[in-house]
Amino acid sequence: MDYYSLTDPKLTARFGDALLSSLAPDGGLYMPKSLPTFSDAQLAELGAMSFAQCAAKLARHFTDDRFSNDDLIAICEDAYDFPLPMRTFEGRELDAAVPEDDSEFFLELFHGPTLAFKDFAARFMGRTASHLLTKSGEQRTILVATSGDTGGAIGYAFLNQPGVKVYILYPEGGVSKVQEQQLTTMGAGSNVKAIKISGSFDDAQALVKQAFADKALSEKHNLMSANSINVGRVIPQSFYYFWTSLQAKAAYPERPLIYSIPSGNLGNLTGGLIAKRMGAPIDRFVVGHNVNDPLVDYLTTGDYTPRPSVPTLSNAMDIGRPNNFPRILSLYDEDHKAIAADIYGASFDDEETARHLRRVYNATGYLMCPHTTVGHLAMEKFSAGVDQAFTKITVATAHPAKFQTEVDRIIREDIPMPDALSVLFETEPSVHVMEPSLDGLADYLAKTA
Ligand SMILES: *Cc1c(COP(=O)(O)O)cnc(C)c1O
Repeated sequence: MDYYSLTDPKLTARFGDALLSSLAPDGGLYMPKSLPTFSDAQLAELGAMSFAQCAAKLARHFTDDRFSNDDLIAICEDAYDFPLPMRTFEGRELDAAVPEDDSEFFLELFHGPTLAFKDFAARFMGRTASHLLTKSGEQRTILVATSGDTGGAIGYAFLNQPGVKVYILYPEGGVSKVQEQQLTTMGAGSNVKAIKISGSFDDAQALVKQAFADKALSEKHNLMSANSINVGRVIPQSFYYFWTSLQAKAAYPERPLIYSIPSGNLGNLTGGLIAKRMGAPIDRFVVGHNVNDPLVDYLTTGDYTPRPSVPTLSNAMDIGRPNNFPRILSLYDEDHKAIAADIYGASFDDEETARHLRRVYNATGYLMCPHTTVGHLAMEKFSAGVDQAFTKITVATAHPAKFQTEVDRIIREDIPMPDALSVLFETEPSVHVMEPSLDGLADYLAKTA
């Protein structure tokens, strides 16, 4: 299937080219030209498959002829070799065979290598890009600025993948201790390098933009972007909504199904909306934002006003200009009423978030990360206005231990580190420290090319 540019629909590209170039030549976001739909019998078949097999079937519609069915199965089975359970507060898993009265779940998308949901998108992107580059014998250099989760997910997704070098730029003091350890321990000699910028996230991001804008530098190193606007990251985020909604509907066929998504750049929400459009049995989406909430204003008033971001406890959602918003508009032909009918939004400040995280932990023993907490608050606010029973799924986007310092402070306890994180602290970090200067970056790229 082809993709078109949102700013000039005449500009089209195959999946692989949209993936490797990220933006259309006019700077527009790529969108799929059409979305597949499925009969009830096909939906039943997809729901009975494993997640990886279902993802490969869906990926068939979104990729191009450079990927065979076997390639897609191999890519998805390799990318998705970890579970995505839906769990109750007590930790019981949703089981279609034994529906319980309890129909509130957390969809835990944090069991991948970097313990955040971005692994789902990054690992698909990494493997599809590497597949194409291996075939063509080309090389690419990925530059990515991160305020935390993106850099780790991208780094691990491309670690040891042929054809690609990755440079992750992160701001000094701007990421959590665990995140920094994740970014700096992928191996001094590996294809993934961490660069600590003496400056803010905005400085790191501005430097990456400058590098892409520098034609000579960009061509010399075949620079490639891996940010959240890339279709290779947006599309796979529809897969888990599609598959988990079929599981939830099988367990509770009579009840409406509603997901709550803690959101920032709205890539995760866009994935959900695409899944719904493909026939996933989802009735509505709730989105939770921190105080960076231009979408919430849009949903209630129809006015969309992006603004500078404000730092919060849920730092991966500190986005004042969500870059997937144009995709959502296009999915609904800019029909505000239709958008507001499918999406309910609410926002919460840090104090409300901390109080709720602590309250849920004390009452149930279930520990959420600050982002997930914002999503769960939105689900509670939405539920308060609904008297019908429905299946509630809050998307848990990161493991709480990824934000250990903040979470420990909020619950006034030391939470244990999962093994996947504690082993990181056994490796000596390796990092290049520099000022946010383009010359400095160019030197380092040349030296390590
Ligand atoms: C990136 C991120 C989000 C926000 O997702 P978007 O797709 O940008 O809306 C939420 N929670 C966590 C933990 C994240 O890393």
